[in-house]
Amino acid sequence: MRLRLWTTLFLVTIAQVAWGQTSTNPKLVNAEPTSPEPSVNSYVVIGATPEQETLVRAQIQVMQPAVYPLRVLFVPHWKYMDTARIFRLHVPAGYTSAMFTHLPSRSVFIDSDRYVSNDSLGHWVAHELGHLAANSASENAADKAAREYRKRLKDARKRAIH
Ligand SMILES: [Zn+2]
Repeated sequence: MRLRLWTTLFLVTIAQVAWGQTSTNPKLVNAEPTSPEPSVNSYVVIGATPEQETLVRAQIQVMQPAVYPLRVLFVPHWKYMDTARIFRLHVPAGYTSAMFTHLPSRSVFIDSDRYVSNDSLGHWVAHELGHLAANSASENAADKAAREYRKRLKDARKRAIH
């Protein structure tokens, strides 16, 4: 019962977010000069601390993914597990994951109780963006697409040291 209620609330939230984006989608607004929304900022980050949002946006900007997410959601562990169940996500026994991507809604879910460092955040976000780029649930396809993104993150870190 509780799960069903949460499912409904969740879907309503997604619908509202999707609706909000549709109404401000630059492609739907014909030559609107007052909303030059760069694609790099056209996704929403939900549930993050200001530091987390700044960090994940900076990392995604560095990675320049072929396909951007529509939303990146930082959720506490219990919510993360609930959402995985709602999406009937198969998580193999013993497999620890701090994030997953729901391809149809281009939503990346991050377990905010689980990710351990800034570098690991970028490493795994690259994998999730790989799923989006490959438009595939295959882990191999995601990792293959993530390789270039991780290289860009690494290069950016090197530049920052100098
Ligand atoms: Zn994956």
